[in-house]
Formats: sequence, structure tokens, C-alpha cells
Amino acid sequence: MMSLSNLQKSSIPDIVAIHFISDLHLDPRQPSVVDGFLHYLKTRGQNAQTLYILGDFFEAWIGDDFSNPFTESVIAGLKTYTSRNIPVFFMHGNRDFLIGERFLEQTGCQLLTDPTVIDLFGRKALLMHGDTLCTDDVEYQNFRKTVRDPIWQHDFLAKPLEVRLSIAQNLREISKEKTHEKQYEIMDVAQTEVERVMADYNVDLLIHGHTHRPNRHELVIAGRPAERYVLGDWGENGWHLVCDREHGLLLTSFPIK
Ligand code: MN
Repeated sequence: MMSLSNLQKSSIPDIVAIHFISDLHLDPRQPSVVDGFLHYLKTRGQNAQTLYILGDFFEAWIGDDFSNPFTESVIAGLKTYTSRNIPVFFMHGNRDFLIGERFLEQTGCQLLTDPTVIDLFGRKALLMHGDTLCTDDVEYQNFRKTVRDPIWQHDFLAKPLEVRLSIAQNLREISKEKTHEKQYEIMDVAQTEVERVMADYNVDLLIHGHTHRPNRHELVIAGRPAERYVLGDWGENGWHLVCDREHGLLLTSFPIK
């Protein structure tokens, strides 16, 4: 017969893990990814002690006052998840930088500044979305400076929803054209910037998304071996980086329904 203490023990995950995801680009036109994420929260995500979402969670976000059944289902999923005392930290990406207080309140997520250093079982880890590492893309960095300006954001959010929707639609079309024109190298991170930032923050571990090139890179920072983990974008598969004390860091993909 199972005693009460055994029952309580078995309900606690054996391994306490920290999960990192990014670049889900949630979009009502990709319902399989939306469903995949909601399923993730109920399954794999339940093994997390903490969940970090490192940007581009949504494909587009024009303000917390925009809502439809899609945004409501994602918000409800996150709310249920954080209600079970799993903290969720959210970092803005270049697509969803207008996520604001209301979204955070509704979901129970906590906003993280880009970049942020966290303690990962005694090891310092630098977390970023990753777009600021693409310093070769001068045009994008200028665009970023504009849209991250609080005055620009205040003006944008004061516009009627229909106006914001059409601006976002135009931006998306322009960005699609540009991405097509640009060379492969420009769209990846600049190695010199990666090394500069890691040295600045005195870390041997960097975790970021944005480039959709999931991988683990080895490098040398200040004469010491270091690692850079790039999270993957969600599509046919989901991606997450899992870290626990026993196994360290593991970047994996998994099928989503
Ligand atoms: Mn991005």
C-alpha cells in the first residue's frame, strides 16, 4: 500500500529543470503551433521549475488591447500554467516588443529585460532575444532603435486598432522582401558582438533565439572555453533547451501535434 508521503513524493518531478523556448511566432494562421504550445504547457512544460520565453513568442503584437479567440486561448493557457506556481519569464523579441503590463497581468508572466544574467545552478547565463547581436544589419538596428523608443511606442499604441493592424501588415511585407534580399551572413549574429557582450557580462554561457538556427556553439571568452546555445523556432517541431543540475544543458526538438 502506498503511504501518503509516497504519493506526495511521486507528484513532484524527479528532476528539477529550467526550460527555455523562443521564436514560436504564434499566429492564428498556424493553428498547429498554437495547439502545440498549449499542449506543451500541459505535458513537457509540467516538468519545468521555471519557463523562460526569450522573445518572438507571437508573430505580431499590436498592443495588449487587441484581443480575439486566438490571443485569449494563449493567455488562458499561460494563466493556468503560472497558476500552478511555475514562474514564466518573458523577454520581448523583435515581433512582440509591444507586449505590455496588461498581458503580463493576465498571464502571470514576468517581464525580463534584454539582456539579463541569471544563475543557472551556480553558473551565470546571459539571456537575450538575439536581434541585438546582428550588428552587421545596420538597417535593422536603426529600425529597432525607432520602434523601441518609448515615445514612438506611446504614439503607436494611441492609434486606433485598425490603423495599427494595417501598419503591422505593411511592416511584415517590407520585412519579408528585405529578408529575401539580404545575404545569409547578415541575418546571423556577428561573432565579434557575441564575444564582446559575453566578455562584458563576464559569462561563459549565452542563450538566445531569433536566428532560427538552433545549435550549440563553442567559443573562447577571455581565454576560457564558453558556449552559446541558439534556441529553435517552432513549426513542424517544437524546440526547447532544458537545464537541470544532473544533466546540464540539452537542446532538443520534439514533434508537435
Ligand atoms: Mn526575432
